[in-house]
Order: sequence, then structure tokens, then C-alpha cells
Amino acid sequence: MNRDLLRLLRLVAPFRWWIVLAALLGFATVGSSIGLMATSAYIIAKAALHPPLADLQVAIVGVRFFGLARGVFRYLERYVSHQVTFRLLARLRVWFYRAIEPLAPARLVDRHSGDLLSRILADIGSLEQFYVRVIAPPAVAGLTLALTVWLMGRFSGRLAASAGLMLLLAGLGLPWLTRRLGRGVGQALTETRARLSAALVDTVQGAADLLLSGQEAGQRQKTDRLGRELAHWQARETALSGFHTALAEMLVDWTALVILLVAIPQVNRGALDGVYLALLVLAAMSAFEAVLPLPEAWQNLEASLTAARRLFELVDAPPAVADPPEPLPPPARFDLSVRGLTFRYRPGEPPALQEVSFRLAEGAKIALVGPSGAGKSTLLHLLLRFWEVEQGQIRLGGSDLRRYRAEDVRRVMALVSQQTHLFNGTIRDNLRLARPTATEAELAAAVQKAQLDAFIQSLPDGYDTWIGEQGVRLSGGERQRVAVARALLQNAPILLLDEPTANLDPDTEQALLETIFDALADRSILMATHRLVGMDRMDEILVLRQGRIVERGRHVDLLEADGLYRFLWERRF
Ligand code: ADP
Repeated sequence: MNRDLLRLLRLVAPFRWWIVLAALLGFATVGSSIGLMATSAYIIAKAALHPPLADLQVAIVGVRFFGLARGVFRYLERYVSHQVTFRLLARLRVWFYRAIEPLAPARLVDRHSGDLLSRILADIGSLEQFYVRVIAPPAVAGLTLALTVWLMGRFSGRLAASAGLMLLLAGLGLPWLTRRLGRGVGQALTETRARLSAALVDTVQGAADLLLSGQEAGQRQKTDRLGRELAHWQARETALSGFHTALAEMLVDWTALVILLVAIPQVNRGALDGVYLALLVLAAMSAFEAVLPLPEAWQNLEASLTAARRLFELVDAPPAVADPPEPLPPPARFDLSVRGLTFRYRPGEPPALQEVSFRLAEGAKIALVGPSGAGKSTLLHLLLRFWEVEQGQIRLGGSDLRRYRAEDVRRVMALVSQQTHLFNGTIRDNLRLARPTATEAELAAAVQKAQLDAFIQSLPDGYDTWIGEQGVRLSGGERQRVAVARALLQNAPILLLDEPTANLDPDTEQALLETIFDALADRSILMATHRLVGMDRMDEILVLRQGRIVERGRHVDLLEADGLYRFLWERRF
């Protein structure tokens, strides 16, 4: 059997008893329909012969029972199916999130965020249907087929054979035909939908840039084209399902005809009581309720497998960083030492860092300066274990960084980067991110040190002010102060600053740096910047160029040395 299908089945395995129950209830529903039709047909045919009422009693009870049972079973079946579906959905979302979280950011930087979004929403959404629309229908159809053949067999073997044959034709032949005709449509549909949503995310997120560069027409054409392509595949799918519906209805009518053609000679011969004729026809026709969803099940199977393949592809990507089998306890000392560090993003590429060595003692302040692309962020990301160190060594508290759990390493390092991500929530939620258990007093202390208190007091709802998606209601300086407050709350002994002032005007920049140095005076600080502000406060400045440290020392000495640092300094001021 298909490997992806097996994996999918394994994912739903914890729900197998629920699934069995739902399938049995589905079968009971169709079974009741057959029973209802059969007993009703019998009553009408029999009543025409004016028998004593007592002869009809059993059948009357049957009609009542099946009529009520059908509704009750249908309700229970829906209920259980939805239970399974939603539990499955919850499980799939968690499963997928757990799988991709360790991949971030190293393995996800190359992915389009729209593509990721579409995998999380649409692909998981189509898998949600996997159980109801793919697994359950064949089970219900199989049981119904057995029931029908058994029922017909009680009258004659030929009737059983004809009904069975017609059901198989509708259940297997029809899906086979639809699948042949619709080959690739499901896959094309899923893929086009994913491409369209990626393009739409591009359009929305890049709207300002598109307008400024006059590219909006091109982008619109691209989206239009994808929209039309999607409509084309949807039309194909709909045409196929229409064709299939027509054929299916025809098969139901033919079945009535076939049963009559087989049964009437038997009645003429006296082998079968004529009163059963209507019962046979109607019972066989109602059995179709179970086989008609099968072609759709095939189509859904194809869509589910495509979606599953796209998810597995991501889930199977090996994480860039793995935790050691026997990790050290979280570090107790926080001195950092980097020795002979050389790093390439991909084999064969020029190194982003070469032979970098330095030591950051507890409480020391070091600046990484150099032109953009020199490798400053790369170094910070290696410290945070976003990527794995291959050549050289980073030691934290005297032990190799790789021997700690990545989570423990990240807990002792706070990062303030150029772009602080603010979540769609209140100011309080956004601060608490750094320490969910922080008390009001701790929040207030951090906010005061980060000099955000006046700003928060000026907000209409104070801490409970909703700051909107990505914090669009905050200025650049305010956002960065939120990041500083978070770093304070996180209480990490090591602070990594990656161009924290890159998007700020000079006054705001100066004020923010003052805040950082005052509030975090006792922490170790490693600050990457190409703007050379606050350099006189640094214990050491490392000047990077093309991944190498080309100069190092204190601000005054470097200015005197008249090298790259002095050049950068003069160009800037
Ligand atoms: P800086 O922070 O000093 O501007 P970076 O550390 O971002 O420099 O980049 C150093 C080098 O590594 C650059 O040549 C850059 O193109 C490359 N680089 C950065 N990130 C990646 C990545 N995810 N994949 C491949 N190359 C990268």
C-alpha cells in the first residue's frame, strides 16, 4: 500500500474506535433506510390484498421502528463523525506545529510564509475530511453490500447476484471511471489553490512596495491568472461530479429494472410470492445510499494524499539543530567564549564567518561592528543555536554550547533585533510573552526601566490597550522599548542586540541606547551594529569584514589605529 496512506492511517489510529463506531452508526442509518423502504413496500402491497389487520402488525411495527431509528442513527452518526473530525483536526494542528517548530528559523527561511499558511490551513483542512469522506464511506458501503446481498439471498440466489453486481458497478466501476476521467484534477486544484494564496499574501503584505514601484498591474495580472486557473480546475471538478451524479442516478433506475426482470419470471413460475416484488425493488434502490458517496471518496483520497505529501515534506525536513541525547543542566555561569568559529550557510558557499575568536565575560560589553553582510547577525544566530556550529567552538559557562538543550541556551540570552515582532494583543500580552508568570509589580518595574511607563499611561486603556496586528499603533522607538522591557522581564544574563536602533532617528536612537545601558548595566551585552553609536561604553569592539575580525580593541585605540574602524567612523560622522 501507498506509504503516505499508511502514515496518514497511523496519524488517525488513536481514533480508530471512534471511527469504527461512526462507521457502524452510518451503516445502521442506511440499514434503517433499507428496512423502512422494504417494510413500507411490503405493507402497501399486502394491504392491497385486504388481509386481516393482524397480518400487518409486524410490518407496521417495522415501519415505525425503522422510521424512528433512521433519524436517531443519523443524528448519532453525525455527532460521532464531528467528534472524530474535530479531535483529528486538533491533533493534526498540534502534530504539524510540533514538527515545524524545531525547524524554525534555519529550515523555514527559504519557505514562503503564504505557502506555510496554506499548508497549515488548507492542507490540514483537507486532511480533516480524511476520515469522514475517505475512510468511513467504503466501510459503510461494504457492510451495506453484505446486508443487501443477504436480504436478496433470502428470496433467490439470482436476485442476490444481480443486486450485488449493480451495487459493485456503482461502488467500484463508477469511481474507477470518474477517477480515470479526473486524473490529476485533485492535485492541480490543491496546488493552484496554494499558489494563489501565496500570491495573495504577497499582494497584501507587499501592497505598499508594489504601489511605489508601479508593479501593481503585474501583480494583479498574476493573481488574475491564478484565479482563472483555479476556476478552470474547479469547473473541471464540478463537471466531473455532475457527470458522475447523472450516471449514478441512471444506475439506480437500471437496478430497479434489473431486479424486476429477474423477479417477474420467478413470480410467474410461482417461485416467488408477488407481494414481495415492490419490497425487492425498493430495498435494492435504497442500498445505493451507501455506495453513491464512493466516487467522491476516491476524489477526496487523492486530495488528502496530495495534502499529506506536502505536510510530510516539511515535517520530514531534518531540524538544523538537534538537542544532545544527554543534555547538561541549564548553565549556571554565563561567560561566553568563541574560538576559531568558521561557518557556511551551505557547503561550497564562501564562509559567512571565518576564524572568529573572542571572550565575553559576565557583565562585559562587546560591540560587533562592520559593514552590512559582514556576518554580525550570523554570529548572534549561532550563539542562539538557530544553526549548528560545525567548525570551531562556542562555550557557555565553560561547556560546549551544543551540550545544552537549545531551549536552555535561549532562556539565558535575550535578543533585541531590528524588528521587534508584536503580536495582535494587548500591551500586557506582548510584555508577558517574555515571562508569562510575571506579576503586575514585575511588569511595572520592567516598563519603568525601559522608560515605557509614560507612554503606557497615555494609552486609553493602559496595559490593556489593544496594539493591533504587528503593533502598528506603536512607533519604532516604542516597539524597541517593548523589546527592552521583554528582555528585562526575561531576566536573561546575556543580552544580544542586533542593530536595535536600525530603524530609528538619531535622537530616539541615542535615548534608547541610554535606556539599554542604564537598565541592563549588570548584564553581558553583545551588540551588533553598523551605526557606531554608544561605542565609547564598550569594553571591546570587534570589527568584522567578510566574516573575519580585522581589528579589535577599545574605541579610542581603534580611532588612533587609523584602520577600517576609523574609516567607518569618519564616514558616519
Ligand atoms: P550582517 O548581519 O553583518 O549584515 P549577516 O550575518 O546577515 O551580515 O550575513 C553574512 C553573510 O551571510 C552575507 O553574505 C549573507 O548574504 C549571508 N547570509 C545571511 N543569512 C543567510 C541565509 N539564511 N542563508 C544563506 N546565506 C545567508
